Amino acid sequence: MNMSKVYLWSLFDQPFGECVLCREPARLHAGLCEACHPALPAIETTVCRCGLPSPGALPESGLCGRCLERPPPFRQVHCPWAYDFPLDRLINRYKHHRQLAIERALLPPWLASLPDPGPVDALVPVPSHWLRQWRRGFNPAHRLARAAADHLNLPLLPALARQRRTRHQQGQRARARRRNLHGAFALRQPVTGRHLALVDDVVTTGSTAREASQCLLDGGAASVQVWALARTLPTRGR
Ligand SMILES: [Zn+2]
Ligand SMILES: [Zn+2]
Repeated sequence: MNMSKVYLWSLFDQPFGECVLCREPARLHAGLCEACHPALPAIETTVCRCGLPSPGALPESGLCGRCLERPPPFRQVHCPWAYDFPLDRLINRYKHHRQLAIERALLPPWLASLPDPGPVDALVPVPSHWLRQWRRGFNPAHRLARAAADHLNLPLLPALARQRRTRHQQGQRARARRRNLHGAFALRQPVTGRHLALVDDVVTTGSTAREASQCLLDGGAASVQVWALARTLPTRGR
């Protein structure tokens, strides 16, 4: 498969039935052909609790240096793919141009990759601010959470609300992101004793996942896992 061809087609939308990357007829999954499916940048090595792959073995703690310094409140981030070419193009088209053919293409392999939910008893989408949601016309995290809830036969629990509008996270340094997000979420449904999976489209620095998980745990949740499509790797935008 020719990468420039992939890039070219990734800029446009395709009708249902064609591969969202190369436009060949898609047989493997609705919207992703057999040749392009392996082009998605899978995270296959051992990962830290923050979802970042570890090039070598992790220390006995199972945590990377960053997590050792500031242990995350969530139990585990699960993302099957790195937020990298060509998936980053696809996710951008999905989020910013509402190309639902991409959602149809990514959902089956994403749902198949979900970990054994274990004690998880409800799925909580990461909310977007109403203004952003209104402009986009949808909240990708909410759609992913609903699909996963249906797939696992678990309830969808929209327990979080955005307190205020936060600046776009992309391009901000980790410390600035933390400041930006502090107090960004509020609880709008009881979560006492619940084991939750927090669902988002992309985990960038993990600041949103931390802040949202902390809000759920402060509200009495028993545990929080984080499930997303993709994880930004440290070399990109951190
Ligand atoms: Zn293809
Ligand atoms: Zn880590």
